[in-house]
Amino acid sequence: MIAEIILNSNAKDLDRTFDYKVPKDMEKQIKIGNRVFVPFGRRKVLEEGFVVGLKETSTFETKEIASMSDNPFLNGKRIKLAKWISKRYFCNLSDSMKLMLPPGTKTNKVENRIKEKTNNFVYLKKEEDEIEWEIENEKIKSEKQIRILRFLMENDAITTGDLEIFTDTSRAIIKTLEKNGYIEIVEKQVERNPFLYKEVEKTEKLKLNDEQEKAYEKIEQAIEKQKNSQFLLFGVTGSGKTEIYMQAIEKAISKGKTSIMLVPEISLTPQMVERFMSRFGKEKIAVLHSKLSIGERYDAWQKIASGKINIVIGARSAIFAPIQNIGVIIIDEEHDSSYQSEMTPKYHAKEVAQILAKENLCPLILGSATPEIGTFYKTNKGEIELLELKKRANNSSLPAVEIIDLREELQNGNRSMLSVKLQEAIKENLEKKQQTILFLNRRGYSTFVMCRDCGYTVKCKNCNITMTYHLKQDKLKCHYCGYEEKKVTVCPACKSTNIRYFGTGTQKLEQEVQKLFPNATTIRMDVDTVSKKNSHEEILNRFKEENIDILIGTQMVVKGHHFPKVTLVGVIAADSSLNIEDFRANERTFQILTQVAGRAGREKLQGKVLIQTYNPDSLAIEQAKQQDYKEFYESEIPIRKQLKYPPFCDIIVIGFSSEKEQEVIKQAKKVYEYLKNRIITEKIGILLYSPVPAPIDKIKNKYRWRMIIKCIYNEQINTLLHQAIEQNECKKSISQTIEINPSNMM
Ligand code: ADP
Ligand code: ZN
Ligand code: ZN
Repeated sequence: MIAEIILNSNAKDLDRTFDYKVPKDMEKQIKIGNRVFVPFGRRKVLEEGFVVGLKETSTFETKEIASMSDNPFLNGKRIKLAKWISKRYFCNLSDSMKLMLPPGTKTNKVENRIKEKTNNFVYLKKEEDEIEWEIENEKIKSEKQIRILRFLMENDAITTGDLEIFTDTSRAIIKTLEKNGYIEIVEKQVERNPFLYKEVEKTEKLKLNDEQEKAYEKIEQAIEKQKNSQFLLFGVTGSGKTEIYMQAIEKAISKGKTSIMLVPEISLTPQMVERFMSRFGKEKIAVLHSKLSIGERYDAWQKIASGKINIVIGARSAIFAPIQNIGVIIIDEEHDSSYQSEMTPKYHAKEVAQILAKENLCPLILGSATPEIGTFYKTNKGEIELLELKKRANNSSLPAVEIIDLREELQNGNRSMLSVKLQEAIKENLEKKQQTILFLNRRGYSTFVMCRDCGYTVKCKNCNITMTYHLKQDKLKCHYCGYEEKKVTVCPACKSTNIRYFGTGTQKLEQEVQKLFPNATTIRMDVDTVSKKNSHEEILNRFKEENIDILIGTQMVVKGHHFPKVTLVGVIAADSSLNIEDFRANERTFQILTQVAGRAGREKLQGKVLIQTYNPDSLAIEQAKQQDYKEFYESEIPIRKQLKYPPFCDIIVIGFSSEKEQEVIKQAKKVYEYLKNRIITEKIGILLYSPVPAPIDKIKNKYRWRMIIKCIYNEQINTLLHQAIEQNECKKSISQTIEINPSNMM
């Protein structure tokens, strides 16, 4: 018997199956998905691999499998899904298989890992590039040291004990690396499951209102009859969608089935999780999120795989949790761009969920107040059933929204970030002792620095994007690579001292608010204040519990939270998302404004929203004011159709990058010519654009070119693109990527 093995490796030239002989005594137990260790080439250590196929004979001369262990995470179905992912999203099979394995399945010892007692976490102390360079130039020679460093580059939050086990090394080697300045060991409070010791009060299901009842019945039927239907649960924030999700899960449990619910990472808050725990108990729910340490993540996966869990709640990658016998899959805030991975494999969790739902014969529920245009389009075409909730469940009314024209403010001599009306509204709210949220679609103190005499702007030397000034450190920073520079006072181009800091940020806004309202308490939330573990949660809790008057923040304040005392929301400048170079600019603007507006007046107190803008005539802004999604949809869909954008056409971006620009251009042109030829000779119906530099044409010293294809992405195009890559081999120094409808077009 012959087993087809995929090695657990990122190397491009190992991205294929290798045949190995199955020893006689293994023949009975071996099955697809098993983890094996095999000799490979001249390597001294055995390589880890996975069985992806079994057959009788091989045309190659084969070596024998050395050892085998069961692997609870992979099986025939999972391998099939991994194959589908690597084909559809253009990645190595081992990369897509990794999605289905908890981290660290590298060594035999993993399964016997001892429970961690210490709380020492290991972090890299040097830049990754520097370490890679040292490895390449043999400054670091020890194989075990290299293994540890590589592991740390790929994973974060690991304890010393786990690190030893996952890399099959010893404490002494970790200590050596620490002594030599490569890593640091930091003693930390061990992250505990905050729910483990918390008493959660049991809640019973609510009696659904008529709208909810109608929607729920459809879903219940599909779960009951095991129908693979798709639903869009379309309802404003507070319309009772979550209550419906919970009752659908309860239904699935009553049929002896499990459930997966995906939420955007940022809404995976303790409050949200607690709602599910109090309904279903803590023991049966696994919560997966990026803050789990590797050990915790491994434990959670193990528990799920053993069948002890019947509800998995998590962000994007939770769709790959090893849960079986699924009765319902839910994707909340389905329009959220985080469901699409920006890292390889660049998969769309919504598409994977569809495959899983089909395989399990269960319904898929997509929920949103502002569905993705493509999702709503499918309800019109009858591919997805529309379930609508029009009212808020607790009968609180939607807030009144008003638009403020910032151009008029300027004309009237008001140079502040806050219009007169917004200032008055804040003052009034402070007097009533109610809370306010000010929302700014930016971060940092000042967006960019420009010379007023010659127009010079400071750009990052590695990434060619404008650097941002950070007040606290008094430095310029690149948001892409972290490169820092001293603040400029003299223009490097013309030596003028007439330098201006343009744009506005949360820090500046906070200063202005403090000046205008010296007695008000404020709290700020943006990428800079939440980079610490958990501080996102802390800030929101403080805002709520300490009754802070004004919360100032970026996108992060928008999602998921329920603040009963917030009655005023001010949007400082609605325009920033309108001006992004992306066909979804209107859609993003509408979504974000509708969501911020939804933070105001969620209970008995009437809410008010003031949107400041330089584009009061923009349709997206006007429709966000009306909070009328359907209006917005009707005005957006003809534009998409005319310009051949999704949902009428898919956008495929083929990217090339390398440190040598000539190399990149040459390869891009080669692939372009190849595609052009095939399209013409075979009369393939696609629009192919010539290769051009990407909008951000250099990141981390790598030049970036790309070309865009507009077409309906189907089997034929998929094959064409795979052939385009296979038949135009390129140097290892060039990386090529293919992305389907990428969420980030930069
Ligand atoms: P959404 O998920 O659409 O934002 P939720 O399910 O969170 O809405 O409901 C909003 C609020 O209304 C919650 O406080 C919830 O407990 C309450 N609620 C939901 N459904 C009902 C119902 N049928 N009866 C009474 N209150 C409800
Ligand atoms: Zn200048
Ligand atoms: Zn940079």
